[in-house]
Amino acid sequence: MRVWTIANQKGGVGKTTTTVALGGLLADRGKRVLLVDIDPHASLTYYFGIDSEHLELSAFDVFTQNAGMTAEQFMQALQPTAVKNLDVLPSTMALATLDRKLGTQSGMGLILKKALHQVRQEYDYVLIDVPPVLGVLMVNAIAACQRILIPVQTEFLALKGLERMMRTLTLIANSRQQQHPYTIVPTLYDRRTNASMQAHQRLRELYGEHVWNGMIPVDTKFRDASRAQQVPSQFAPKSRGVLAYQSLLTHVLQLDKAGERL
Ligand code: ADP
Ligand code: MG
Repeated sequence: MRVWTIANQKGGVGKTTTTVALGGLLADRGKRVLLVDIDPHASLTYYFGIDSEHLELSAFDVFTQNAGMTAEQFMQALQPTAVKNLDVLPSTMALATLDRKLGTQSGMGLILKKALHQVRQEYDYVLIDVPPVLGVLMVNAIAACQRILIPVQTEFLALKGLERMMRTLTLIANSRQQQHPYTIVPTLYDRRTNASMQAHQRLRELYGEHVWNGMIPVDTKFRDASRAQQVPSQFAPKSRGVLAYQSLLTHVLQLDKAGERL
């Protein structure tokens, strides 16, 4: 089971879209995929039409019951989607209270990792959609994964946000003495603007090989797909956006295979 975390401390950069698009593509290929929503905004949960406010079990229970949750209970928290091979661990607003609840307890950073370990036979890939906040949820997501994908909007202000994210990663890496491989994913690329092009070049200058050589274009099909509650690859398989995510997936799978630390 491979676990990827999709994170950036900025909202609206395409984290949830990237999680859903890549998850959908992996499921299309017959991989068993679990999408973990730990953003209290629950965008990913709502994407699939799951009613976040009326759940018996959710990611919140995973964190609050901690070691008390059996593998069976964890499985009960998972929701199937209309997409074959694609399940969701749904989020609820209550997750926003976690930092206050568990902030200082020891071992609180490894709860998600331990929970996912229980389903390692059931899934090939787990993709974690993280809130844009440095806190117990992000720490858990990073501890639980083997790779971090960082969607970054190709515009100059977004590069500032990325600096913050990179400092956070260094902070977490130092405290855990473990540096995760990461891939920066340029998103919302508008080929009609120079700013988009320049931001992409600047990303390469700053982060070199960590920046995926392609980019995810602005594509209205993503919004249409989310309105239809379908993964992009099944809603518009030949769209520019889906083709771009396909080539991103190929890139990341190659990195994983090569075991590169990029
Ligand atoms: P985040 O999870 O980082 O907050 P989202 O993935 O929810 O960002 O994207 C924010 C908004 O932008 C959503 O309405 C989404 O549909 C839209 N969006 C994301 N990526 C694209 C894209 N490549 N082209 C067009 N719209 C996009
Ligand atoms: Mg989101």
